[in-house]
Order: sequence, then C-alpha cells, then structure tokens
Amino acid sequence: MSNVEKTLSIIKPDAVERNLDDQIKEMYINNGFKIVQEKKIQIEKLEAEKFYKVHETKPFYNELCNYLSSGPIIVMILEKVNAVLANRELMGSTNPKEAREGTIRKKFGISIDKNSVHGSDSPENAKIEIDFFFND
Ligand code: UDP
Ligand code: MG
Repeated sequence: MSNVEKTLSIIKPDAVERNLDDQIKEMYINNGFKIVQEKKIQIEKLEAEKFYKVHETKPFYNELCNYLSSGPIIVMILEKVNAVLANRELMGSTNPKEAREGTIRKKFGISIDKNSVHGSDSPENAKIEIDFFFND
C-alpha cells in the first residue's frame, strides 16, 4: 500500500537571502517530491511565535521567532510517498554540523539556528502546519 503524504517545508531567511531557493527546490524534485503549492512571504513575529509555539519554553524560542520573521521565507507543500519522514531525511539533522552528507542542511546550513529549512516532524503536525500557511 502506498502512503502518499503531504508535508510542509519552509526555506528559511538565511537560505532565501543567499538565493538558494532554486537549488533547494531542485533537491526536493530530484528526490521525488512534488511541490504542490508554494509562496514567498514574510511573517510577523507574532505569527512565528504561533508557528513555533511547541518550543515556547525553550531558551532559543525568542531568537528563533525573531529569526523566522526577519526576512522573506518560502513555504511549500511537498507531496511524496511517506513525505514527512522522507523530508526529515533529506533535510538532515537540526545542527548542520551533525547532518549527513547529501542533506540540505549539510550542504547549505550555517549553524543550528540558521539551518536553511524547516520540515514537519509528523503527519499530524504536517496537517496543522499546512493549514497554518495555506488556509484560504
Ligand atoms: N533551534 C535553535 N537552537 C537549538 C535548537 C533549535 O536555534 O538549540 C532552532 C533551529 O532553527 C531549529 C528550530 O529551532 O530548526 C526548531 O527546532 P527543532 O528541534 O524542532 O528542530 P528541527 O525540527 O527544525 O530539526
Ligand atoms: Mg521541529
């Protein structure tokens, strides 16, 4: 049984700023993802706080929300069999220094905070995150 899923990806400000969006999209496409919808936006800090609410008690929360709202981002709905897990694999570890060769974060990430991409971590959160950005 194939399990075609959707997941949410964000190309974060550090990558958009360095014009890496086409190269990152190419990595998704080369790995069998279909970009179903995408848009370039900039969000307010309050929206970033809502999006990352699960991290609100973490010491890095405030900086993380400042960062995500600091410049344009590209939000995308990606589709593939087992897309959530496949995207987490293609992204690589949160800390680019620990990310595997061939992953997006290994290739483009600068640091644990400027790690170029976001990806949903479960099918449940993928639905919530897709709805957060594509609710119209
Ligand atoms: N983050 C950070 N410092 C940390 C851990 C995380 O700045 O010590 C940031 C980083 O940008 C990360 C985001 O917070 O992508 C969300 O953290 P999470 O643990 O959910 O990592 P992810 O799911 O993005 O790999
Ligand atoms: Mg996460």
